[in-house]
Amino acid sequence: MKIDELAGHAISGASREYDVVVIGGGPVGENVADRTSAAGLDTVLVEGELLGGECSYWACEPSKALLRPVVARADARRIPGLKGAVGGPLDVAEVLAHRDRLSAYWKDDDQVAWLDSVSVDLVRGHGRLDGPRQVVVDTPDGGTVRLTARHAVVVATGTTTRLPELPGLAEVRPWTNREATSAREAPGRLVVVGGGVVGVEMATAWRALGSEVVVLVRGSGGLLARMEPFAGEMVADALREAGVEVRLGASVAAVAREGGPDAPVRVTLADGGTVVADEILFATGRAPRTADLGLETVGLVPGDWLTVDDTFRVTAVADGWLYAAGDVNHRALMTHQGKYQARIAGAVIAARAKGEPVDDRRWGAHVATADTEAVPQVVFTDPEVASVGLTTREALAAGRRVDVVDYDIGRLAGAVQYGEDYRGRARVLIDPERGTVVGVTFVGPGVQELLYSATVAVAGEIPVDRLWHAVPAFPTISEVWLRVLEAYRDMRKD
Ligand SMILES: Cc1cc2nc3c(=O)[nH]c(=O)nc-3n(C[C@H](O)[C@H](O)[C@H](O)COP(=O)(O)OP(=O)(O)OC[C@H]3O[C@@H](n4cnc5c(N)ncnc54)[C@H](O)[C@@H]3O)c2cc1C
Repeated sequence: MKIDELAGHAISGASREYDVVVIGGGPVGENVADRTSAAGLDTVLVEGELLGGECSYWACEPSKALLRPVVARADARRIPGLKGAVGGPLDVAEVLAHRDRLSAYWKDDDQVAWLDSVSVDLVRGHGRLDGPRQVVVDTPDGGTVRLTARHAVVVATGTTTRLPELPGLAEVRPWTNREATSAREAPGRLVVVGGGVVGVEMATAWRALGSEVVVLVRGSGGLLARMEPFAGEMVADALREAGVEVRLGASVAAVAREGGPDAPVRVTLADGGTVVADEILFATGRAPRTADLGLETVGLVPGDWLTVDDTFRVTAVADGWLYAAGDVNHRALMTHQGKYQARIAGAVIAARAKGEPVDDRRWGAHVATADTEAVPQVVFTDPEVASVGLTTREALAAGRRVDVVDYDIGRLAGAVQYGEDYRGRARVLIDPERGTVVGVTFVGPGVQELLYSATVAVAGEIPVDRLWHAVPAFPTISEVWLRVLEAYRDMRKD
């Protein structure tokens, strides 16, 4: 009998020993469990909500399902002969139905079946550490199950929206990523607080679905402040053209629904200005889901991020039995990067369990070198933003000398073919001593599919001399690589 069946029968006090216990069944926990199980380790996964995590139901999947029709329509509107056919509004009901489908109707039956197929046991319930190698799970029916790990406990509990401390915020019923991705209709007026990736993506989606949208961004960093500045500037221009009001330097001082729970939200800004809307979305960053995880029982502070070494061992815990992967370790808060961490964590846990050598050299099988050197990210707005590796500002802060090559993507034959009035820009950072690409940012329609080429160049540390021999097809936007190399060659001659 599987342990979740035991839990289902509320056998309080049931206990079982496994090689590996994973807490949190998001994309990262699932992948760690898959890898340790594939390596022959007896593995159990503990999940408190839906197997598949935030990504499947309230983040990546629903948000991209909402954005795909928006971006496809924008692309189509740039194509002669087609633009006339797509001038009208989106079919909101159909878009939301598509979103529901891609969110698996908020049911995890398929993922449960997959977990079973990779021979990982599932315990449903809220898991907490209870001293070294011990996890206690409160099951939905009021029982408890104690799990003991012979080799490793892996925390993959992810993150939740970090809400600012504002009086009366709870009464306003603010949207987090959950409501923003699962709403059943477009609000008449939506205020988005925060100009990061979630803020700009959700502003793009809901504007196209019919909402009046205002984006409030604190400070002067602009939108997408962690990326190259031109990325945020181009996305801000496009949002404004789409009718979104983008207010920079706008800090929220107070929020209230004056006149009852269904009254509009009045947002008061630090400068005294006000904005009134039907809903308010806080896209103000993420906080680790570690507040109620029993961290205090192993000498850690509840609510903290879990700092790990490059093999995902939590550095502050002795004996190396506690690992943390995915969002909760704060290294790179994206599904693909978390799954990369999961593959590595799974492999290194298995190697250590079997007494096999650990390959922890840079780019070795058991260290997550890409977490610091080559993290790819796509912002699914119109225009899209795709980046990997360093930005100019990061290179400067790290004291790394880089040559910076910029190129106007709109000049490419491939861009002209892609759509009329194509606006795009590329920046490539090259380490002049090693002659390798260390950072790339592309902005423009259709650039998301260019990102893997940049990631290969950065992670592969391919010399630019060799990149000359990687010939991009004509007429594609990939020819941006050729133009950048030509510009770099000419720069070096001067
Ligand atoms: C709106 C939005 C859009 C995004 N879009 C993208 C995108 O397009 N591409 C991308 O790469 N990334 C995207 N991300 C980021 C991505 O969602 C996260 O990086 C990813 O979900 C992290 O995976 P995880 O497994 O670490 O955590 P999560 O997905 O958060 O999963 C953690 C799981 O742990 C469970 N859990 C937590 N605590 C406990 C406990 N004590 N006991 C039992 N179970 C517990 C939770 O229920 C959850 O299922 C987006 C994020 C947001 C907010």
